[in-house]
Amino acid sequence: MNLIFSDCFVTSLKKYSAIKESVRKKVDMIADAPISLGEPLKGNFQGYYTCSVRCNFLIIFLYCSICRKKGDNLIVLCSDCLDCADDTIKFIDIGPHDKIYGI
Ligand SMILES: [Zn+2]
Repeated sequence: MNLIFSDCFVTSLKKYSAIKESVRKKVDMIADAPISLGEPLKGNFQGYYTCSVRCNFLIIFLYCSICRKKGDNLIVLCSDCLDCADDTIKFIDIGPHDKIYGI
């Protein structure tokens, strides 16, 4: 797997440093099984996947193999999708449920 961490993700991780270890473990798990662990978002966030780190706290990510299959690279912010390998996972952001769904 080719893992990419957005600036946004890195910034958020610093903010939530108390659960940094939990996030890191979850990132490893997602890298092993992005499809079975990810829950697809709908509407404006079609193409994105979320995975909960703990109660009410989510990681949001893209998996390029799936963006392409669905053609979601046209509507999600996976701008350089075509330059990424199929097995690229982009970690977009982390945060409380309300933040992720309330944008
Ligand atoms: Zn992509």
